[in-house]
Amino acid sequence: MRRAASLILALALSGLLTGCAPKEAESQIFAMDTFMNLTVYGKGHEVTAEEALDTVENWIYELENELSVTRTGSDVHNINANCGQNVPVSQSTASLLERTLALCEETGGALDITAYPAVLAWGFTTGEYQVPTQEELDFLARNIDYSKVTVTGDTVTSDTLIDLGAVAKGYTGEVLANGLREMGIPSACLSLGGNVQTVGSKPDGTPWRVGIQDPESGGALAVVEVTDQAVVTSGNYQRYFEQDGQTYWHIIDPETAAPAQSGLASVSVIGSEGTRCDALSTALFVMGLEESAEFWREHRDFEAVFLTGEGEVYITAGLEDSFSLTQDFKTREVTVLE
Ligand code: AMP
Ligand code: MG
Repeated sequence: MRRAASLILALALSGLLTGCAPKEAESQIFAMDTFMNLTVYGKGHEVTAEEALDTVENWIYELENELSVTRTGSDVHNINANCGQNVPVSQSTASLLERTLALCEETGGALDITAYPAVLAWGFTTGEYQVPTQEELDFLARNIDYSKVTVTGDTVTSDTLIDLGAVAKGYTGEVLANGLREMGIPSACLSLGGNVQTVGSKPDGTPWRVGIQDPESGGALAVVEVTDQAVVTSGNYQRYFEQDGQTYWHIIDPETAAPAQSGLASVSVIGSEGTRCDALSTALFVMGLEESAEFWREHRDFEAVFLTGEGEVYITAGLEDSFSLTQDFKTREVTVLE
């Protein structure tokens, strides 16, 4: 009898405890060509964690339907299918394109959404990989030029093929995080492939700990602690193929139309706007360490972690207190860029 009573007491206590703990809703989905892990905690103004999670899941599919380069009927697909014509797009696509074109300009064309014909020529869209001839590459490189794209109101005209693959996931994370904040959700972690977007801090009030992948082993080389920020990584290990002893990856240098050989293996950008972080992760990968460090010094509105092909680790000064190597990599030297 006494045992039964204590069991009931224990159950009641655990019920009480769960009642106090923030409610968690979690899901794994496959969208935008990648696995996504979504975790939402707490409760919003008028929504439960589950309802908020359902809503953001639907937003992901809607954004995929607008931004996918391969999906018939998406805004990007319509633009590409009607080169040289005025193509009406959704207001959100038009404003994302405007923002992205500004980022192409700001990065001196290291980011260029008209690199898509080169991405296609290498087979990164279809998985039918091939190495184009030098003549083809020269032709492709001459034609990469984001000024061929103009946005007028909600109409887009492009004289060449475009692709928003370099910003779509960061943008999606940003849209989702803003939506969750508007719903009053205090805490969430959205992992969209190499893009992690956080809302608030962990439910216990400590920062989120986001892993930076070791390109060689695939394990976590380091952790950055963030609150309410995006951590977006571009890496040469994320999509690549090998031919005749050479490795070719999916980040294209617009100047050569070939995979960017900047000496970097990955760049992670940490900042408050997912779209900007995603654009910059791609652009800084193309620029390489020296030029990226200069770009960071001029802007200082983001932080970054650079891993070189030689295994060196560089971080920007603002990360000194929030960056740490994991146990297996404790002996790596970390250089702080000032
Ligand atoms: P991310 O993983 O964000 O670095 O984006 C890489 C993807 O963006 C590639 O898979 C291509 O679809 C596209 N891409 C590759 N190189 C560039 C570039 N220099 N500028 C813009 N998009 C690019
Ligand atoms: Mg990117």
